[in-house]
Amino acid sequence: MTMKKTSNPSETARETLIVLASRKLAPTPENYSKVFQEIGGSSEGAPQSPGTPQLEPAWADLIQDLLRQLETPHKGITITRKKEGLETVLNRFASKPDELFGKLQGLLRSWAAAPTVALDAPPLPADITPAATAVKTAHTPKTKGGDSSQAHQELILQLRELLAQSLENSLSTQPELSEEIKTLAHQVRATDNSQIFELTSKLRNFWLKLELRGGDKTKIQEGLARLLRLLVENVGELVADDQWLHGQIVTLQEIIANPIDKRVIADAERNLRDAIIKQGSLQKSLSDAKSTLKGLMTTFIDRLGDLSETTGQYHTKIEGYGQKIGGASNLADLGHILEDIMHDTRIIQDSALRSHQDLLFARKQADEAEARIRQLEQELEKVSDLVHEDQLTGVLNRRGMDETFERELHRANRSSAPLCVALLDIDNFKKLNDTLGHQAGDQALVHLANVIKECLRPADTVARYGGEEFVIILPDTPLQDGIDAVERLQRELTKKFFLNNNERILVTFSAGVALRNGNEDQEELVGRADKAMYIAKKTGKNRVVAAD
Ligand code: GH3
Ligand code: MG
Ligand code: MG
Repeated sequence: MTMKKTSNPSETARETLIVLASRKLAPTPENYSKVFQEIGGSSEGAPQSPGTPQLEPAWADLIQDLLRQLETPHKGITITRKKEGLETVLNRFASKPDELFGKLQGLLRSWAAAPTVALDAPPLPADITPAATAVKTAHTPKTKGGDSSQAHQELILQLRELLAQSLENSLSTQPELSEEIKTLAHQVRATDNSQIFELTSKLRNFWLKLELRGGDKTKIQEGLARLLRLLVENVGELVADDQWLHGQIVTLQEIIANPIDKRVIADAERNLRDAIIKQGSLQKSLSDAKSTLKGLMTTFIDRLGDLSETTGQYHTKIEGYGQKIGGASNLADLGHILEDIMHDTRIIQDSALRSHQDLLFARKQADEAEARIRQLEQELEKVSDLVHEDQLTGVLNRRGMDETFERELHRANRSSAPLCVALLDIDNFKKLNDTLGHQAGDQALVHLANVIKECLRPADTVARYGGEEFVIILPDTPLQDGIDAVERLQRELTKKFFLNNNERILVTFSAGVALRNGNEDQEELVGRADKAMYIAKKTGKNRVVAAD
């Protein structure tokens, strides 16, 4: 930084006077020429010789001027450039205080030479708005003999107030520094001229801090914006399948594409928060939909397994659904597929249900039929219990025989009348069956039964005891009468032939006759008749044997 040389001699002369006044040097020709040479002469950086006693007031003016010039906006000279120039001069001439003063003066002159820029706020007093005028105003009174000391002090107060207000204006943008700013503003207003040096260095430090903070803030803002862009891009990819959210993200991207300021960041933050909330709810419904789908698919496949006969048809369908699910890019598509699957599953369920209902109905019918059969069987049993006659021959069956025995034995007991029992067994009946057939055998049985019925007395009873065995109960009959009756029956059979296909078949039987002994029961009585019958067989058949 070099001292600006004025090209205009009258300007140089005017500046020389100002400098003499500011240094409080007497305007002697010697001093004048020295200062004139310093400002406008060729010997740049010529040693100055300000007297020590005059130095302090001159420095005070210079520093006040410096503060004013720093604050005054000059076209083409930013405050940063001013500070750089100031620092350079300070660094280069810090060890040469005698040169420093002149260099600083030159620096200030170079700033003052640039046109000033109108200040927006706060409004400056009319008489100090142009910085160059302010400098002149500040010094002119002294050059004219120092009769305006009060005006000078007033101007200084005004300038101090201006600086204090400037500081306070930065409160809104630097809330973290509010205490420091308030203290500085207070000191600017209150400090007397002797302490102005100390205040100047404090202000300088404060400006540096402000600058650093400004730099940090810019970096933080840029970093935040980068982070936000990254976040938005990623969220956009995450939720690419949701149209609403996609729209939100685009809006957000547009917002942060513009120059970042506080309002934009607030807008972006609000939008992002909405997007995140929406994304959260979407993820929940998506995972719900997925688990629902999974459950449905499982049910669906299970149903297919159950309905093996329709597997072919549904196998094709399920393959189709698999492909659709794979191709589904958003929740809406997935929802439609779900609906289709549910529909088909319902159809399958319906058909399964129908089959099941059919089966249940058939089972119920079978159960009912079974119950009916059991009932019929029981009824049949009951009915046959009531039947006392042999279905084939028409004589009493075993039950009828038992009842007759009970009745006749009772009667015989009461009357003490003899009672005979005869047991008849057809001879060689097996051979008859084998020769003529089972049906002929049946007819032979029927024939015998009829002959027996015809030959017996009304009180006598005949019963079919077994296959081809008959029992005859003869009440009030002694043994011989019983034997006689059975032998008569034998003879009768020789007269009444059994006719089979017009062929005369002689049916003979062997018989045992037993007379009841005392209170002998049915079983013993029939048993003795059976033994006698057995003897008849053993002794040649077609004969009647009396039991012992
Ligand atoms: P036996 O002279 O020693 O009595 O010889 P059998 O052949 O009569 O003796 P057995 O007791 O060995 O045979 C009886 C046969 O009577 C066997 C069976 O086929 C026949 N039979 C029993 N009940 C019926 C029936 O209701 N109808 C017919 N057709 N045959 C019967
Ligand atoms: Mg027999
Ligand atoms: Mg027999």
